Amino acid sequence: MKVDEAFEILGLSKDCSDQELRSKYRELSKKYHPDVNKEKDAHDVFVRINEANQVAKDFKEGKISDIESSGFGFNISDIFNNIGDMFGGPSRKSAPKHSKEVISLTQDITFKECVLGCRKVIKYKRYVPCNTCGGEGKFKEHNGCADCNGQGMKTVNHGNAIFRSVCGKCGGKTKVKNCNDCNGDATVQAETEITVTIPAGIESGQVLGLRGAGNFHSTDMFGQKAYNDAHLNIKVEKNPNVKIVDGDLVSDINTSLLNALTGYSTKYDSVYGEIDVVIPPKSKNKDELKIKNHGLSNSGYHRFILNIDYPDDIAPLLEALKETQNKE
Ligand SMILES: [Zn+2]
Ligand SMILES: [Zn+2]
Repeated sequence: MKVDEAFEILGLSKDCSDQELRSKYRELSKKYHPDVNKEKDAHDVFVRINEANQVAKDFKEGKISDIESSGFGFNISDIFNNIGDMFGGPSRKSAPKHSKEVISLTQDITFKECVLGCRKVIKYKRYVPCNTCGGEGKFKEHNGCADCNGQGMKTVNHGNAIFRSVCGKCGGKTKVKNCNDCNGDATVQAETEITVTIPAGIESGQVLGLRGAGNFHSTDMFGQKAYNDAHLNIKVEKNPNVKIVDGDLVSDINTSLLNALTGYSTKYDSVYGEIDVVIPPKSKNKDELKIKNHGLSNSGYHRFILNIDYPDDIAPLLEALKETQNKE
């Protein structure tokens, strides 16, 4: 990268102060850090900013001239490590084992729970950060270098900014030891319990997304542990006698022609308890009776549709009717 280009990327002029360069770099790297900025090209921009900063610094320190391009090789993991150190958070590590496995849970609910809505406590297993190694999978060991106290990196103060640089004596070679408790996987399986609110009227086959209820995914630059989402598949107990339509419950009520003409009342076992369904005299086929606040979650209606069972042989009935008419 050319010097001019580097300053252009940083939005600075070549005669800016060291302090301006530092604060601009800090501002930009914070803004485009891929842990924070989820835009597609943030990662590329972030790498460019780091390269530009190195070139600009080298230019300021007289290591390279105006026309030279930087010969500094970039290792993206070094950049991330430095940034992590800079903000005081742990550095970015490769994704822990099992972090890509999706947890898919199933919950059965009764028809009543479906009508009223419910809360369910769900117990399941998921992968969480190992306590022993803090979700890192490994420990840094003393590399035997006295210069950097075995850390491989040295801390350099520049005004009020702190930079970490590779130790010149040991070349930054670090020793790591796998964590015994998680075999270096960074995660261990643990029993988890969550309480889920299942909305009234949910249908079988619907899937609820459970935010952050999945496996441990990563630790961000601020030390926050992030978890994947989990899926909850809902299965509702079938009730062949009741349909849910627009927040109402709908059922058929079968009756004889005689009952429909004379009127009658019957008991019905609803999820709200026993209710009296009163069919008035002279009711017609497909008449609808509505009971208020007996639909989904104590609102809406329970609608009863009257199904009159007409006799197969209506000849005697017609005879009787004709007789009564003749008498009039
Ligand atoms: Zn561990
Ligand atoms: Zn060293």
